[in-house]
Amino acid sequence: MTELKVLILDDNNLTARAIANVAEFIGLSAKITSDFQSFLELINDWSPQYLIIDLIMPDMDGVEVLGELGRMQIDAQLIITSGAGQQLLHAAARSAGAHGLNVLGVLPKPFNPKAFRDLINSESINTADNKFGQQLRAENQANTLTVNELEEAINAGEIYLVYQPKVSCISGTLTGLEALARWQHAEKGFISPEKFIPLAEQNDLIDKLTLQVFEQALPFLNYLQEADPSLKIQNRGLLLSVNISAASLKNLDLFKQIEMLCEAHNIKPDQLILELTETAAMDDPVMSLDILTRLRLRGFRLSIDDFGTGFSSMLALVRMPFSEVKVDKTFVMTSADSRESRLVIKAIIELAHSLNMQVAAEGIEDNAALDLLRKMGCDQAQGYFIGRPMLPEAFIDWSKNTSKHIDLQRLKRLHGLGLLDSEPEHRYDRLTKLCTRLFDVEISLISLIDEDRQWIKSSQGFSQRQTERSVAFCNQTIAQEDIFVISDTLNDKHYAENIMVTSAPYIRFYAGCPIRASSGEKLGALCLKHPSPRSFSDRDKQLLKQLTEMVEEEIDYNPLLDEDNLTGLMNREAFERRAQKLLNIFVPYQASITMYYFDVNNYKRISHAHGISAGDEALIHFSRILTEIFTDTELVSRLVDDEFVVLSVCEQSENRLEQLAEAVKNYNANVSPHLNIEYTVGTASSHAMDNIDLQSLYMYADTDLYEHKSD
Ligand code: C2E
Ligand code: CA
Ligand code: CA
Repeated sequence: MTELKVLILDDNNLTARAIANVAEFIGLSAKITSDFQSFLELINDWSPQYLIIDLIMPDMDGVEVLGELGRMQIDAQLIITSGAGQQLLHAAARSAGAHGLNVLGVLPKPFNPKAFRDLINSESINTADNKFGQQLRAENQANTLTVNELEEAINAGEIYLVYQPKVSCISGTLTGLEALARWQHAEKGFISPEKFIPLAEQNDLIDKLTLQVFEQALPFLNYLQEADPSLKIQNRGLLLSVNISAASLKNLDLFKQIEMLCEAHNIKPDQLILELTETAAMDDPVMSLDILTRLRLRGFRLSIDDFGTGFSSMLALVRMPFSEVKVDKTFVMTSADSRESRLVIKAIIELAHSLNMQVAAEGIEDNAALDLLRKMGCDQAQGYFIGRPMLPEAFIDWSKNTSKHIDLQRLKRLHGLGLLDSEPEHRYDRLTKLCTRLFDVEISLISLIDEDRQWIKSSQGFSQRQTERSVAFCNQTIAQEDIFVISDTLNDKHYAENIMVTSAPYIRFYAGCPIRASSGEKLGALCLKHPSPRSFSDRDKQLLKQLTEMVEEEIDYNPLLDEDNLTGLMNREAFERRAQKLLNIFVPYQASITMYYFDVNNYKRISHAHGISAGDEALIHFSRILTEIFTDTELVSRLVDDEFVVLSVCEQSENRLEQLAEAVKNYNANVSPHLNIEYTVGTASSHAMDNIDLQSLYMYADTDLYEHKSD
């Protein structure tokens, strides 16, 4: 076994000794120096695997030290220590990374032996299985790699690929995979792409290598989708990412060949993501813009890799036609400890989203990082915690296991919610009704996908309560991340023969949006169906998404928090949250909105004369009557005491008010006179208002109520 050696550069002898002691205690041998020159000499003569460097020393510029080490192409693992703040330490670590150095971590002072041990141990654990051991063996030899050897390897087809999964941050479903090149040298062993890719780039071999990557990866993409049936149903979605070197950008011929390969394998360019590093794209912005735009026009998706390390201005990004930003792993890997990293990630996500780009994060090594990124709104995740780069067969196994696991999680969650086999409820029906009206379609459903069936929780225009899972359009929707549309089922090879298409209700158009549990699992879909073909605009998609959020809110409905415990109506907070969402949707459409505000005038009198429970009885009856009358898309709520409100997205209905008066009259005729309900109603109608928001609706309705009271 190789002896592991630590070299410490520090002018504080006490700290240096402390570090050396701990190092020796865990079986490493350690040397100390306080002088940069002898430090360099020791690196050469003694070949330590670890360097521990104090960045702030009197006669030395820490950044210059890093630059020098970078120029020397030092392979050892770097640990940076300093009494300076975390922020500076992390900045230094990044700068070291930018110089091509391997930064293992940072150790703030005062020296903490445990933190040091953790750093060293994490290294040997993380890498024992693949990188470190092999690297130790191969590294020195790799230094003597020749161009000829690489060229021979490329010609002999010795470069092979591993694939690393990319998943949705929210649901964990596989959304794509990145192809990464590998080279196992017959004598020199494993050679890192960090070594042979630059060598290929500098010697005009990179385009040949890139083509080989496509030659292997494209058939694998097809094979993968065949091999894992659960991927087949989402085959419109799976994206393949391939790294493209800056040098290749000049070679338009390469992209022509890539296009031809795509055609040969029946893969559309929009299933491919070309990953370019930030520095590559910004090297020559004018030329890049030109070429990148052309690639976009041909349908390729473009990702900006290692974003955040290239120091290019974020504004430059705005002008480039990227479809995805990949946050560099150094930020992700330090996100738990570094506030600065979190701020950078947050800024990147906000910027990218404002430009309509997807955000992927790489280097996710634990659940905490995944959790954090999910909360920050990141779309895609990649990293060892999700899956390591894998050989093709291993990748297929991983994919199958993951799909199975996700469906099980999903089912567990769905079964726990108690929605299956439950009766229709107004709070869901109100939303499907809104759908049929807003989109002018015949059918709208809330479908929940069970193990082998779909359970229809709410339906308009469709009488079955369940169907087989295999025929459910929504089963495909839950395999998607976003809205799934079939404009004309007869033109879709997957659906033209579907029983819902070939017989009643003869579905020609379908649009569905996945419904998620608050914990991310996809439970089913809110969907629209129609017997004639349709197109579905971005605005329609936006609207369907908003309505789906409302369905999700109903699924999260918590009687303890959201319900008025006397009447069972939703309470004020629950009402206002829903009302706000409705207004957000309908105000831009200039739809009619009406608020009815009710006051049970004699509640206090009844309670006073006949006891609280008699008063409560009156309120309970009044709330029942309200829910019997307002059964359409209205929200009905008890705000406080004897005040009730109904929000409707229709014009004011005198008819409903008359029905209500009639129902109360009937009720009153059947109870003893002293329990009779007397109420007043005030209304507010969006027609009469300049500014339509919840507060104004309350105000108008309240004013109207008091005018009626004084009548
Ligand atoms: P990259 O494009 O940024 O690829 C991601 C690298 O991060 C991969 O290293 C991957 O194994 C590693 N990685 C993924 N998840 C984690 C994680 O959770 N933690 C850590 N610490 N690392 C993670 P790999 O495969 O060694 O590739 C290194 C670089 O080599 C790539 O960086 C890419 O720039 C280049 N490269 C690899 N294959 C190709 C290729 O086919 N063409 C070109 N032009 N470049 C390639
Ligand atoms: Ca990449
Ligand atoms: Ca990267």
